[in-house]
Amino acid sequence: MKILLDGRWVDRDEKINVTDPFDNSIIDTVPKGTTQDAETALAAAVSGFEITKKMTVYDRAQILFKAAEIISDRLEEYAAIIAREGSKTIREARKEASRCVNTLVASAEEAKRILGETIPFDSFPGGEKRRGYYYRFPIGVVLAITPFNDPLNLVAHKLGPAVAAGNSVILKPATVTPLSAIKLVEAMLEAGLPPKAIQVITGYGSKIGDVLVSDERVRMISFTGGVEAGKHIAARAGIKKIGMELGSNSPVIVWKDADLELAVESCVSGAFWAAGQNCIGVQRLLVHRDIYDQFKTSFVARTKQYKIGDKMKEETDMGPMITETEAKRVESWVNDAVAKSAVVLTGGKRNGALYDPTVLENVPPDATIHHEEVFGPTVNLYPVDDLDKAIKEANSLPYGLLAAIFTSNVDVAFKAAYDLDCGGVMINDSTDYRLDSMPFGGVKYSGLGREGLKFSLQEMTEPKVVCFNLPNI
Ligand code: NAP
Repeated sequence: MKILLDGRWVDRDEKINVTDPFDNSIIDTVPKGTTQDAETALAAAVSGFEITKKMTVYDRAQILFKAAEIISDRLEEYAAIIAREGSKTIREARKEASRCVNTLVASAEEAKRILGETIPFDSFPGGEKRRGYYYRFPIGVVLAITPFNDPLNLVAHKLGPAVAAGNSVILKPATVTPLSAIKLVEAMLEAGLPPKAIQVITGYGSKIGDVLVSDERVRMISFTGGVEAGKHIAARAGIKKIGMELGSNSPVIVWKDADLELAVESCVSGAFWAAGQNCIGVQRLLVHRDIYDQFKTSFVARTKQYKIGDKMKEETDMGPMITETEAKRVESWVNDAVAKSAVVLTGGKRNGALYDPTVLENVPPDATIHHEEVFGPTVNLYPVDDLDKAIKEANSLPYGLLAAIFTSNVDVAFKAAYDLDCGGVMINDSTDYRLDSMPFGGVKYSGLGREGLKFSLQEMTEPKVVCFNLPNI
C-alpha cells in the first residue's frame, strides 16, 4: 500500500513489512515514511485546511454517511484486513468493522449538531447595547496518531469527527497495523473527501513523530496509545490542544449479590477480547469473599473452554498477541508474579505469539502484573470483604479509564458509580463495554479529554464569539 501526501498516493523505495502475527506471513508493505515526508504532510495539511474549512456541513456529513455505506457493503473485506494484520479473530474483527460504520454515521449526525449559543451581553452593566453569540469553528490541522489494537475503529474515532468538524488531518497509524487505516482513508476518498484534506504517513513514530508533534502548524494532537509515548508527545507538543486516550489497568468488582453467570461470561470476554490487548480489558477482578470460590471455579472453567489459534477460523475465540516479543513480555510478567507468590489457576503458557488465556490469584502488590497495564490475556483475582476497601483498592493505581461492578443492590451500584475514580463506571457489564457515541476517556494516566463523537467534536472545534456593538438601538 502507499501513503497519501498532498493529494496523491505515493510510494517509497524503503518499505516496512506488515505481517500476520499468527504465522509471520507478509500481508503487504507500506512505505517507511521519512521526516521529509512528514514535512510534506504538514505543508499539504495546511493547504488542505483551506479546502475543508469551506466545505458545508451537508457535504461533510454526506461524505461520512457514504464512507459508512462503503464499509458496510464491504464489511467482510474490512474485517479480514483487521483480523489478518492484528490480533483479532475474524468474529472480533467483524464487530470492529460494524462499529466503525456506527462511528462514521454518528460523526455525520453530529456534524449537524455543532452548535453555538446567543450570549446575554446585557447581563452586567455596560453591555446593554451589545448583542452577540458564539459559534464553533474547525480547529485546523489535526494530527491523529493511532494504536494497533483497534486498527480501524479507533482511526474512525479521529477521522470521523475531524472531517465532521471541517478540519484537515494528518494520520499516522500504528506501524504494525497500518492497512485497515489506509483502507478507511480509501473509503473516505471514494465517498468524496477531497484528497488534499487528509495526509496518511506510515513509518516509525519514534523516527517521524517528533517532527509532526512539535510543529506549530498542527493545532491539535489526537493521540491514542500507551502512557510512555503519550508522555513523550506531551513533552514535545508545545502550545496546541492535546487529546490523549491512554492505557489502564481496569478493575471490576463482583459483589456478593451479583448475577454470577452474567459476571463470569462478561468478565471472561472482557479479559480476553483481542487477546487482552484492549485499553478497557478486565485486569483486576475484586470478588466478594462469600462468592469467591464459586466465581473462581466458573471463571476458570469458562476460560479453559477458550479456543485459541488461527484468527481466520470461525471457531477461534482468541488469536495471538501482536508480536512474539509482546507475548514474551506477558510471560515474563506472569513468571515475575509467580516468583513473588501468585498462583496460576489456568494458562501461563506461551507458543510463539500465542499466550494462553491466564487466570492468576494471590498476586502481590509489588508484582508488575498487579500495578502496570498488562495489555495481554491475563486477569488477576482478589477476594474482598468490604465495599469501601474494594473501591479504595480499585482506585489505588495511577490509571482510571473505565471501572465496573456487578451487583443487584442499587445502593452498592450508586456508591461504586460515584466513588470509583475513572472516566466511566459500568454496572452489570465488565469494563469492556463501550458505545461509540458515549464520552470516552480517562483520569490520571489514562488520558486527557474525551472521545465519543459529540465530545470529540467539542475538542476538535473552538468557540468564536461574535459581538455587535449597536449604540443606536
Ligand atoms: P504505542 O506504542 O504508544 O503507539 C501508539 C501510536 O503512537 C503508534 O502509532 C506509534 O507509532 C505512535 N508513536 C510511538 N512513539 C511515538 C512518538 N515518539 N511520536 C509520535 N508517535 C509515536 O501504543 P500501542 O502499543 O500501539 O497501543 C497500545 C496502547 O494504547 C495501550 O497502552 C492501550 O491501553 C492504549 N490504548 C488506549 C485506548 C483508549 O482509548 N484509551 C484505546 C486503545 C489503545 P509506531 O507504531 O510507529 O510505534
